[in-house]
Amino acid sequence: MKAYKAYCLDVDGTIYRGEQSIEHAADFVRRLQDKGIEPFYVTNNASKTQAQLCERLANFGITADPECILSSAITAAKYIHRWYAGKSVYFIGTDAMGEALRAEGISCVERNADIVVTGLDWGISYDKLAQACLDIRNGATFLSTNRDVAFPSERGFLPGNGAFTALISTSTGVDPIFIGKPESHMLEAIRHEHGFRKDEMVMVGDNYDTDILAGIRFGIDTIHVNTGVSRMEDVLTKDVPPTWTIENLEEWEVI
Ligand SMILES: [Mg+2]
Repeated sequence: MKAYKAYCLDVDGTIYRGEQSIEHAADFVRRLQDKGIEPFYVTNNASKTQAQLCERLANFGITADPECILSSAITAAKYIHRWYAGKSVYFIGTDAMGEALRAEGISCVERNADIVVTGLDWGISYDKLAQACLDIRNGATFLSTNRDVAFPSERGFLPGNGAFTALISTSTGVDPIFIGKPESHMLEAIRHEHGFRKDEMVMVGDNYDTDILAGIRFGIDTIHVNTGVSRMEDVLTKDVPPTWTIENLEEWEVI
């Protein structure tokens, strides 16, 4: 065990699984908070607001600081604010995306944007896709919240933001900057805002290809939990395995 100051927690597969809580997760967060450590929550989900994500965590017995919750939409807004200050944005996404952009004071326009950003949008249409393509052909920078091409639902696997991103990419010939894991922009946003050193940070998650790779690419320690997508025996055979592998969060002693 090592003492970290910034625990960056994945949520789905680490804290809950769909509507089911994952054993020991809420208790782990409480043990962190008892030591004065407020954890961060990093999720590729771009369709929910900070308040909605906070409420979801509360349903699983976790009192989170809303400011410590980073979705890929919130991170995209922070990224635009930091690197493209003053630029206008055309977005495809839910109200959560609009709220995240407004929170950073970003001006959203209906056409001729400097930046196009896409996230999952339940009301996606030909017109929205066409406008995104037109702006990108006119030179707009193309950002996308995540690569997820499909996500599970009660009906089966449904098309995710990555699938619509691929459509725009195919039509324009322009590849986007992806914001979500396995890219490390969420972790960089946490480091930048709070001034942590990389050796004070750790990424905790169930999925090697997103959570653990994001941590490895960012150059911080990683903890793999065997409660979700990637199996422990598989992650141990990787060229770059996680720093730590545990069955569940009860095994992690907070020091
Ligand atoms: Mg996960």
